[in-house]
Amino acid sequence: MNDALFQRASQTAPGGVHSPVRAFKGVGGTPVFMASAEGAWLTDVEGRTYIDFCQSFGPLILGHRDPDVARVVHEAVDRGWTFGTCEPYSLALAEWIIGALPWVERVRFVSSGTEAVMSALRVARAATKRAHVLKFEGCYHGHADPLLVRAGSGLAGEAASDSAGVSADTISHTLVAPLDDERALDAIVDAHGQDLAAVIVEPVPANYGLLPQRREWLHHVAARAKDAGALFIMDEVITGFRLGREGAAGEFGLRPDLVCFGKVMGGGFPAAAYGGRADLMNLVAPAGPVYQAGTLSANPIGMCAGLATLEQMTERNGWKTLERRTADFVTALSREFANARLPLDVVAQASIFWIRRHSESPVRRPDRIPAGNAAWFAKFFHGALARGVYLPPSSYEVGFLSMAHDNGVLARAVTALAEAAADAERE
Ligand code: PMP
Repeated sequence: MNDALFQRASQTAPGGVHSPVRAFKGVGGTPVFMASAEGAWLTDVEGRTYIDFCQSFGPLILGHRDPDVARVVHEAVDRGWTFGTCEPYSLALAEWIIGALPWVERVRFVSSGTEAVMSALRVARAATKRAHVLKFEGCYHGHADPLLVRAGSGLAGEAASDSAGVSADTISHTLVAPLDDERALDAIVDAHGQDLAAVIVEPVPANYGLLPQRREWLHHVAARAKDAGALFIMDEVITGFRLGREGAAGEFGLRPDLVCFGKVMGGGFPAAAYGGRADLMNLVAPAGPVYQAGTLSANPIGMCAGLATLEQMTERNGWKTLERRTADFVTALSREFANARLPLDVVAQASIFWIRRHSESPVRRPDRIPAGNAAWFAKFFHGALARGVYLPPSSYEVGFLSMAHDNGVLARAVTALAEAAADAERE
């Protein structure tokens, strides 16, 4: 049944999918069609269940179909699912975000992280009257043309990380610096600082595996952006409301000029946002001259689901719980790997984790990922899948825990993943 569905899908969508990583190209085999989900679990169309560490690539911090969120969503549907007018639901979420994060004085809701980043860059160019944008190698900021340069995520496995169809002049204003390298950054800023509209960073790069950065490096990036008169933009699409209530900015004590959100803030619906300093955000139409709009922007279902998610996480002190559970999970898994003498590392930050081949030194940039990692991961992934654990289907994607991953679920996952790793080593 699964194979037949994928065959049909391949006749209808490019590569059979609507977002590339779902096609299993990085791990081989036929993608599994999922029919339903609950909590930490996915159920496929043939009735098999899997512990889900993908969680739709991060939004579902409470797990699938959290009962509270489900109730709020049903109530929202009963009121009407899009108005295209002013409504109180996005207002409530905007006030919550602005109340929680002092560096967000104004916010604009959009429908995807890509749109949030694209719009934030437009604001930066308008505010500075400069054209260049500096990004870091291996950071992914969505698929807006100027940022499809050494990006990661679905692109990380490709021979050339630039996409076809992006003209040379579109990316001619994009500068790329390596992660974790103050001197390389300094050289670029010294040479191009006067033309820089923005420096954009994924504060915890999580689209090329998980590449946790040094706090000092992050502060150096922020400081160099400021010196140059460029905006410091934090892409918190993954880290926002995931690393903690205040995201990476709170975790590292950084003050972005503009920040981009997605994933968790929409509770699993297509909602995202950009926001920041009032003087900058007031450049956005209709307050100012930077045009940006969206038919379904601030969609009430996503707004209500997002707010319910954030309120519940706050009430339950969910971020602390998740951090503790993830740390225990990582410790248990690492112990299993060590006992079986498997040369693997489990890297984690808050409730984000990544399993990879062992490295003697910290892996903070793509070119330090151990050789052979992708080939190893393909075997490991299928071993895990066969044992009922669904990892994100690429060696470059990270795993996520949700509040629904309780100790029982995690203990089962540790056993399955340890067996899968031992098998992968034997092959
Ligand atoms: N920025 C980051 C850091 C992301 O991880 C992603 C998506 N994974 C995006 C931007 C783009 O978001 P979307 O897929 O919602 O367009």
